Amino acid sequence: MTAIFLIVLGSVLLFVLLAFLIKKPGGSHRQPAAVVLKPCAICQEKFPESELVTRTIGDANYKRSFCDRCITELYEESRLLHDPLYKASDSEDA
Ligand SMILES: [Zn+2]
Repeated sequence: MTAIFLIVLGSVLLFVLLAFLIKKPGGSHRQPAAVVLKPCAICQEKFPESELVTRTIGDANYKRSFCDRCITELYEESRLLHDPLYKASDSEDA
C-alpha cells in the first residue's frame, strides 16, 4: 500500500517538475526583451529608442532625442519662417 502511494506521489511530483521545466522557456518566449522607452525632449511622450532621432546638444556631451512628429513640426515651422509662400503653395496643392 505504501509502495503504491509512493509511486503515485513520485509520479505527481515528476509531472509537476516537468510541467515547471517545460513552462519556464515558454514564459521567456512570451516576454521578449524589454523595449527601452525614452522620452522625446520636446513633447515628453515616450517612444522605443529605435524610433527617436538623437543629437548632441551644445559643447558638452548632452544628448537629447526627438520624435518624428516633433521633428516634422519643427520642419514645418522652419519652412514657414524661411519660405512665406510655402503655406500658400501647400494649400493650392490640397
Ligand atoms: Zn516629440
